[in-house]
Amino acid sequence: MEKQPFSLLSLIRYLKPYWHWVLLAPFAMFLEAYMDLLQPALMKRIVDDGVMASDQALVFRTGLQMFCYALLGACGGCLCTYFSSKAAMGFGNDVRKALFFRIQQLAFEQTDRFTAGSLTVRLTSDIGTLQFLVISLTRMLLRSPFLLFGSIVFVIRTDWHLALPLLLSAPLLIFAVVCWMRKLIPLFQKRLEQSDSLNAKMQETLIGIRVVKAFDTEKGEASRFEVLNRALSDTDLKSGYLHSTLGPALSLIQHLTVVVILIVAAYEANSGLVKAGEIAAIVNWVSQVMMSLIHLSFMTMHFSRAVISAHRVLEVLETEPAIRDGEEKNAPEDGSVEFRDVTFAYPGSSGLPVLEHISFKAPMGTHIAIVGATGSGKTTLLNLLARFYEPDSGEILVGGRSIRTYALDSLRSIMGIVLQNPRLFAGTVFENVRWGRPDASDEEVEDVLRIAQADRFVSRFPQRGATNVAQGGVSLSGGQKQRLSIARALIREPKILIFDDATSAVDPVTERLIWDSIRARFRRTTVLSVAQRASSLQAADRILVLEKGRIVGFGTHDELLQNCEIYKEIIDSQITPTDRKEGV
Ligand code: ADP
Repeated sequence: MEKQPFSLLSLIRYLKPYWHWVLLAPFAMFLEAYMDLLQPALMKRIVDDGVMASDQALVFRTGLQMFCYALLGACGGCLCTYFSSKAAMGFGNDVRKALFFRIQQLAFEQTDRFTAGSLTVRLTSDIGTLQFLVISLTRMLLRSPFLLFGSIVFVIRTDWHLALPLLLSAPLLIFAVVCWMRKLIPLFQKRLEQSDSLNAKMQETLIGIRVVKAFDTEKGEASRFEVLNRALSDTDLKSGYLHSTLGPALSLIQHLTVVVILIVAAYEANSGLVKAGEIAAIVNWVSQVMMSLIHLSFMTMHFSRAVISAHRVLEVLETEPAIRDGEEKNAPEDGSVEFRDVTFAYPGSSGLPVLEHISFKAPMGTHIAIVGATGSGKTTLLNLLARFYEPDSGEILVGGRSIRTYALDSLRSIMGIVLQNPRLFAGTVFENVRWGRPDASDEEVEDVLRIAQADRFVSRFPQRGATNVAQGGVSLSGGQKQRLSIARALIREPKILIFDDATSAVDPVTERLIWDSIRARFRRTTVLSVAQRASSLQAADRILVLEKGRIVGFGTHDELLQNCEIYKEIIDSQITPTDRKEGV
């Protein structure tokens, strides 16, 4: 995508709901700017007709008038800030919502490509920059040109000779701004990229903080963080330095212009061509011209910065999700599953298939356990069923229809998924379980907690189901987290239950109890579970054995013991001499 100013136009649609604020802001601003423009004229009157003519009454009247105009101007300024903030905040909220929504629609491979760190910066800093642009556009875009041209007109009307130095210095000022911007804009871009990397590092370390501590690598992590941190602050320092020199350079030009005008004015005053009040007013208008030019130049800089941010936001907003919704809005009627000659390689990887020619059937209500060495493709197979990725060839059917034909939410609405590393969210136990189905009653939540064998440990928590877990709450063991995640999946009353090594941290006795309760209560639910332990494999109706992405066995425990060498090896590796004696 090209970084063109047009990128900003694509975002204008998000300002539509706030068009009334966008229109009201310049109106209020006109009031403020017009009052600013009139002040020097009043000042001229006070000096020339009041002070010089010793007319106290006129000085008082005009002073009062100046005060009223200033008050009106201040009201206009406040209203303008209020209106433009309303527009900018509404706009920012909507863009952030749309962006967050789009991020959630993207396939894993796409979010991985953008990286979580960069997506966070896009959701926060980049949108903040765009909000700031809306504020400065609604405030300054009309105000500055209005004051600029208004002041020039007033100066010319008062004494056109004195307008000449002003007209000559304006191009000098614009030239200075262009030179600075050529240096600053690449720094803005660089800063955002460095911010992305710093964020990615921060997230990685915070998520893996336990591993960092366990391996005592805090110092190494801190120095890696410091490298990125220093790069970012160096760029900040450079752009801050450039920024800080621009202001004084512009004000130098401004003061030089005023000095030249005063020299010309002094010359004219000697010949009686200009009065003291007129000179004071002209100096005031000249300051306004210069200030307007400075504001316009800073706005151009914000604009360039916002173009980069708009590009980064649009890059995500306009990325079409790699996995598209199907037409069928109704959820599958039953949970039968069939893989037909499925082959898959991860997008962006070496291209070697992770799964090859996978075909098997799981009729409604059956439990298929998947077993195989690490890296044999077990998790990938479940990921394909949940349509987190799309197979390169072959077809996956649920309820007799290809899963591509269903809308994603319809397909996933019949699934209860427990991932390898279950993640709970900030909130109570009950809230975490209800995450699976928000309208579930307390009785239903308690019921699934019982099935997941979580009721006993939850009842020992200080506030039972109302106890906070995750952030700021009780800390849970791996097995407890797994059981709450199982309850969260079960509350959906799924037609398909997907367990990715979901009971690995639960003791074998409890695991058996969980499977027995699930089978008793969810008879019509198809279960696909990745499992390693012999005890949990035996709970399944059939077992699918994977090796290097291929099926090397599919049958019951007894059948596989007879005819699948790899399965026999897996089971043998887990049987202790005592088990052997007892004939397990
Ligand atoms: P298992 O669950 O049997 O341990 P996986 O299905 O997780 O195996 O992984 C199968 C293979 O796919 C492994 O070689 C792994 O490195 C690779 N793999 C897994 N996830 C990704 C990914 N997101 N991108 C690229 N390769 C992946």
